[in-house]
Amino acid sequence: MALDPQLLEILACPDTHHAPLDYDPQAQTLTCTECGRVFEVRDDVPVLLLDEARGGPGSDDARGGSSR
Ligand SMILES: [Zn+2]
Repeated sequence: MALDPQLLEILACPDTHHAPLDYDPQAQTLTCTECGRVFEVRDDVPVLLLDEARGGPGSDDARGGSSR
């Protein structure tokens, strides 16, 4: 299943820059052209939540520390 091209046109990064997203039909992901965050597409519904995004600037979840 592919996302509707018309839907893709109006999709934008949920971050403040609202940059366009790059759709990868193979990986079922949307990559922000500005910050590089990767958003998943689940059941043809793009999950455009910063909390759910992978990568992007200041991505430090690999360190896994819970205290700041
Ligand atoms: Zn972005």
